[in-house]
Amino acid sequence: MSLPDYYEVAVPSPLRRLFHYLPPPDHGQRIAPGSRVRVPFGSRQLVGLVTRAASGDIPGERALRAIDQVIDDEPLVPAELLTLARWAADYYQHPPGEALASILPSLLRRGDPCPQTGAWQWQLSVRGRGLPADVFPHAPRRRQLVDLLRDAPKTAAELRSAGISTAIIRALDERGLIERLLSHSDFTVQGPLLAEQPPEPHADQRQALAALELDRYQTYLLHGDTGTGKTEIYLRAIERVLRLGRQALVLVPEISLTPQTLARFEARFGCSVAILHSGLGEVERARTWVAARDGGIGVLIGTRSAAFAPLRALGIIIVDEEHDLSYKQQDGFRYSARDVAVVRARSAGIPLLLGSATPSLESLHNAARGRYRTLRLTQRTGAAAAPRWELIDLRRAGLREGLSAPALEAIGDTLAAGRQALVFLNRRGYATALLCHDCAWIGGCPHCETRLTVHLAAARMICHHCGHSRPLPARCPDCGSAHLQQLGQGTERAEGTLRELFPQAPVLRIDRDSTRGRRSLETKLARINSGGPGILVGTQMLAKGHHFPDLDLAVILNADDGLMSPDFRGSERLGQLLTQVAGRAGRGDRPGRVLVQSHYCDHPLLSVLVESGYGALAERLLHERAAAGMPPHTALALLRAEARAARQAEALLAKARQIGESLSARVQFLGPLPAPLEKRGGRYRFLLSLSCSHRGPLHELLAALAVRLESLPEARQVRWSLDADPQEML
Ligand code: ADP
Ligand code: ZN
Ligand code: ZN
Repeated sequence: MSLPDYYEVAVPSPLRRLFHYLPPPDHGQRIAPGSRVRVPFGSRQLVGLVTRAASGDIPGERALRAIDQVIDDEPLVPAELLTLARWAADYYQHPPGEALASILPSLLRRGDPCPQTGAWQWQLSVRGRGLPADVFPHAPRRRQLVDLLRDAPKTAAELRSAGISTAIIRALDERGLIERLLSHSDFTVQGPLLAEQPPEPHADQRQALAALELDRYQTYLLHGDTGTGKTEIYLRAIERVLRLGRQALVLVPEISLTPQTLARFEARFGCSVAILHSGLGEVERARTWVAARDGGIGVLIGTRSAAFAPLRALGIIIVDEEHDLSYKQQDGFRYSARDVAVVRARSAGIPLLLGSATPSLESLHNAARGRYRTLRLTQRTGAAAAPRWELIDLRRAGLREGLSAPALEAIGDTLAAGRQALVFLNRRGYATALLCHDCAWIGGCPHCETRLTVHLAAARMICHHCGHSRPLPARCPDCGSAHLQQLGQGTERAEGTLRELFPQAPVLRIDRDSTRGRRSLETKLARINSGGPGILVGTQMLAKGHHFPDLDLAVILNADDGLMSPDFRGSERLGQLLTQVAGRAGRGDRPGRVLVQSHYCDHPLLSVLVESGYGALAERLLHERAAAGMPPHTALALLRAEARAARQAEALLAKARQIGESLSARVQFLGPLPAPLEKRGGRYRFLLSLSCSHRGPLHELLAALAVRLESLPEARQVRWSLDADPQEML
């Protein structure tokens, strides 16, 4: 094959384009797309990925520079993944070079050599294959080795377990009859597929499994409360895929859930199950990535970024807790792993399972329109009934540190019965503010438009938005008064209160502060799951998928934040959060009890949720969104801008709106408006919202707008970013 005139290379740069380079002068071979190369870029040298080889007129006026060095002989990134990442870069308006770099493990991004993941195996050499069947009549072990290798190559370990000693192997090696090769162990060839006997599926599960087709693209929305057997469906579906010799990709929302999922999947399957997430060491991550690519892993479990993991023979994708906010990256490359999975499954022609007890309105909407197929699970396994919900009116209840009398009584009863209770509040720290009783000074963040949270154990006040922190003052910094009041309640304070009120029971706090250590979350979960009475107090970390077999009671300290949220998704999220927390209760053999404290007990959304459940709430919210012209009925994007001077950020958005209006008559604009958190980290923040009844025109405009903004001189002093399908209106 002749050499191309030039290559198109994705270079990690903030510019929204690919770059062109001449072939390296001393390289006689054609470089395949997906291979890494070192290229000169300005005065630096960067690692880029070749996306295309081209011949003909060289684009651009300037003389092209040549590629310095080719890193990979074989393409590192499979073609399927190149296409997927480039689609995502386009859709989410991210520079393609940065997007492509970000899907690589950091080790490989830097240009390190691709790690070897295969196992060394022995096979017959050409001479060995020519041996007669009755070779070595007086050396039965040697004969056995030849016979074994006639079947298939074997690792040294396999040979040893067949009774072949190292001496025998060496003897035949020295005679040139056998040789060693590095082969990627194929996950399908090892032992029996099932390591345990799965339970008989119940009626709902049988129906769902019968509906699942493996040989074509279809997204299925697997909607079932916690404990209705969704994970069992994943396992069954994966079993079928593995039997076809194909691989499964499973996305979970949290790193902390990966060990639990890994354990359950490893117990089921005899083939190799692996995890991939940002908490792994660099080398381990790169090795897993390459092993998955080469087919050495049967089931890959990972968090958001694993949506871009390479898999040679992908047969199914599963997204567990598909509604979870963590699937959307909130900065930089703002992709939604769930939506990337949809695109990936479609182009691979394979099924995608989206599982949740509380599906997002987006997915429910897609199911209602017939784009996704709904698989409904309603039967709880075991004897457990659905939890009972009760509302507690905070206006009338006597409170002790945020806990009402009925809640305290319920916790007491639960502990007395030897069972466990969970207390949920979505704020870490001790108090939400520090107030001077005499002069009304309030501890605020100097860089953000927000109050500092009091963290008593650390004796500091910390900004939860920019991380700014200062020592906890003993006296008011303004008037010197010692009358400082700690307002509001965080998990740290609730923990203290519960310890005082229930000294006989262990109280375990689970939030980002208390689980910082490498194994501290696992240790805490193990402690609670070892049984006996106890109280768990924590944030939404508790709401995500963990199993607590001895938990009977969930208390939601305050539902009001969600009801009063300025974000149009606030009530959807509240419904999801409360239902997920409730799902933690009563997983054993008895029904759980859920107490929701609120000042707005007669709020229509709260009553729908408590009386009729999440499904009814979601239906109602979908109608409201349709009436208001909000997603999922319309396509939405945000242009965010932040600058040291508020005026600069606002002016850039005004200009963007002007440009946008001149480019498209179909897209609707709202703003510039100050962001709900108007100042963060010393920068003023503004939003411009862009919406359209159809995705196409909106995305055309976004692409054109990005190019125009890139070239505006006034955009240089402003940090701006586009967010397609934003999940948070911050
Ligand atoms: P989900 O993922 O919806 O929370 P799981 O699949 O984890 O539900 O199932 C809840 C519990 O019920 C698990 O302990 C699981 O092993 C068990 N289970 C699931 N399906 C069955 C079944 N058909 N028969 C018996 N036990 C089942
Ligand atoms: Zn004061
Ligand atoms: Zn701050």
